[in-house]
Amino acid sequence: MSALASSRPESLTTILIVDDNQDNIEVLKVRLESWGYRTQTAYNGHDALKSVERIAPDLMLLDVMMPEISGIEVARLIKSNKALPFIPIIMQTALDSTESKVEGLEAGADDYITKPIDFAELKARVRSMLRIKALQEALEEREKELLEVNERLRHMSQTDGLTGLDNRRHLNDRIEEMFAHAKRLKEPFSLVMCDLDKFKSVNDTYGHQAGDEVLKQLAAILREEAREIDRVGRYGGEEFMLLLPGAKLADALTFAERVRKRIEGHTFTFAGGTLTRTASFGVAGWPHDRIVECDDLVRSADDALYVAKETGRNKVVGFDSDEFTAHKAGHDGSAASRPDFGAEENSGLTAAH
Ligand code: GH3
Ligand code: MG
Ligand code: MG
Repeated sequence: MSALASSRPESLTTILIVDDNQDNIEVLKVRLESWGYRTQTAYNGHDALKSVERIAPDLMLLDVMMPEISGIEVARLIKSNKALPFIPIIMQTALDSTESKVEGLEAGADDYITKPIDFAELKARVRSMLRIKALQEALEEREKELLEVNERLRHMSQTDGLTGLDNRRHLNDRIEEMFAHAKRLKEPFSLVMCDLDKFKSVNDTYGHQAGDEVLKQLAAILREEAREIDRVGRYGGEEFMLLLPGAKLADALTFAERVRKRIEGHTFTFAGGTLTRTASFGVAGWPHDRIVECDDLVRSADDALYVAKETGRNKVVGFDSDEFTAHKAGHDGSAASRPDFGAEENSGLTAAH
């Protein structure tokens, strides 16, 4: 849009003339139309309000002194109706009536002109009001554009570009929020970590683009399997996180097992071939004695995921399960002592070109 707001051509500008005196209306109508404006007329406040609702005029020439509803009241009603666009109101007042000018302006009129009307002055005031309206509209348009840009930026800052899932930062915010909510309502809350097995070898064998394609398809599977109320996000490279409000640990384990099977049975396609992959899952659920804060929940699921990796991959391990505890008893379990899962072991790659 141009920075300089220009008003609409006269022929597209509608001015509503409101006056209880038919002769006044006729004189104004003829004059305004000779300047190229379209006109509408109303003989009392009721009709004026109805007209405004119906045609949303670009400007109103409003007589103050009218029976039943005065011009002042009409101005007040129009200006307090937030559903209406900005409609400039020029009040027509008696020459000596300072009081009604003040009252009119306070009621929301934008300008006034005194009777008997000087037409050169009227023309100038109408034009000036229409310029203000055009500026106002340009401002509103700008504001709308800014809101849209802000919304796009907000979405971008929360979304992973490759998969369209929540990104890590957004996931962290959501965990805090959802965990706090679960605690408040004393409802269970589970977290599932999912990590593709031997994903590095997809990149190494088929290239990064094939790897990207696998990540996108995995994201689509996770989104499909999750419920509407769950959050699905990409936590890191090939690591995904699912937040399951209302799900007990046992429910989350069942869910993860279903997803694991689905991934195992899925044929990933990419330009140049197809391949299959498996994934490992770590699941943690609240309430649990050792899960108090968000960090505990994330760490517990992460620990369970590592046990799944260490004990063979392509499996679901729950935090504090027998398998988890037994494995931990045999290891010190710290990150530093985790074995390096080299690509040479158990590649699980069954690709076909
Ligand atoms: P593990 O079974 O132990 O999880 O082995 P892994 O190979 O899946 O795990 P590792 O952490 O050794 O390697 C992860 C790989 O994921 C390395 C990195 O190049 C790849 N990766 C991370 N982000 C992306 C991405 O956005 N696109 C592609 N194509 N690859 C990615
Ligand atoms: Mg992996
Ligand atoms: Mg990884």
